[in-house]
Amino acid sequence: MQQITVLGSTGSIGCSTLDVIKRHEQRYQVFALTAHSSVDALVKQCVEFKPQYAVISDGTRLDELQAKLSASGCGSQALAGLDGLVFVSRHEDVDTIVSAIVGSVGLFPTMAAVKSGKKILLANKESLVMAGKAFMDAVKDHNATLLPLDSEHNAIFQCLPQSYQTLHGAGVEKILLTASGGPFRSYPVDELKFVTPDQACAHPNWSMGRKISVDSASMMNKGLEFIEARWMFDAQVDQIQVVIHPQSVIHSMVQYADGSTLAQMGNPDMRTPIAHALAWPQRVQSGVKPLDLFSVARLDFEEPDFERFPCLRLAMTAAREDSTLAAVMNAANEIAVDAFLNNAIRFTEIATVVENTMSKVASPVTTDLEEIVAIDSEARVVAKSLITR
Ligand code: NAD
Ligand code: MG
Repeated sequence: MQQITVLGSTGSIGCSTLDVIKRHEQRYQVFALTAHSSVDALVKQCVEFKPQYAVISDGTRLDELQAKLSASGCGSQALAGLDGLVFVSRHEDVDTIVSAIVGSVGLFPTMAAVKSGKKILLANKESLVMAGKAFMDAVKDHNATLLPLDSEHNAIFQCLPQSYQTLHGAGVEKILLTASGGPFRSYPVDELKFVTPDQACAHPNWSMGRKISVDSASMMNKGLEFIEARWMFDAQVDQIQVVIHPQSVIHSMVQYADGSTLAQMGNPDMRTPIAHALAWPQRVQSGVKPLDLFSVARLDFEEPDFERFPCLRLAMTAAREDSTLAAVMNAANEIAVDAFLNNAIRFTEIATVVENTMSKVASPVTTDLEEIVAIDSEARVVAKSLITR
């Protein structure tokens, strides 16, 4: 039995993970579940999966969680705050962590799991964007197993030879990182400043949390994934190419020296990469229907439009740096996306806030987590000041 902690279990990835786990009760046991503030959703999951611990990161909700867990009779113990998240991430009884908290708050619990040598199923790309080098060094130093849940990175991982986790020595020439182009791929550019949060969150192919949905609409998501791929596969930035593929059927590709291009394909449903990473190196049922190529009928490919998607350009610039520029960019983006979702700025101002923050905040080279978090905090302050102005 694999003992699993799901960080961010009430979110989109968290729920898909539990859906896969439910299909294989003889293989996987839930050790801990965590949520930010949705007590009722967390308790409901505890009643179904009976974990040892339930963690609410908003400490003001601990009493409520405790009372509701007791009343439910599920037997789970309540914990709170960052300490609670870290506790269930590095507990000795845990084998696997599903890192599915949204945003930079995922960094500390995920790093705690890495430093305890766990198997980490990574959805929280923000932690790798913020602290790529420190993260990957820790994976090596602590003999942790890192498996990608992000569909593109999971696809790349599947297209690499099994004995290699990185590109070196594998004859790999290029990673083709596919992107749907989101809801605004062909929307009139002049009208992008008028789009609403609901329009931005209406992704044509994927159903996801609101933050990543806005990132997909601005293509910052692809920028974050570009940086994620750079660190995860130890790739040169020139080895990674973004390819727009509107159908989201090919989840990414790997090109080899001999002219072969390998693609991983499937319906756009996160349960496929989740099941792949949970069972790796075996394969299990995920609940996803097999791909029907006759109904897909065609696959299209385009080059990305950097005028339309300035966030992608900003992220690809940050990807070239070994400094903390990507951490600054990520923090500013989290603030800007939140402001857009709360109608405080326009969609097109996300890129402006991010770019101006990147030019105002110093981004030294460091692998010190405390320092990276301090830079992240400074970038948030600067981004907020740009917004209120
Ligand atoms: P979501 O908003 O649906 O869920 C986020 C989860 O994190 C929830 O359980 C929430 O309670 C928790 N959370 C939010 N703020 C928190 C905080 N401050 N402290 C602790 N916990 C907090 O998000 P999602 O779409 O499931 O995405 C989660 C992560 O996975 C993101 O990093 C995203 O980029 C990545 N990802 C998501 C998808 C997808 O299809 N949804 C695909 C690839 C990668
Ligand atoms: Mg992705």
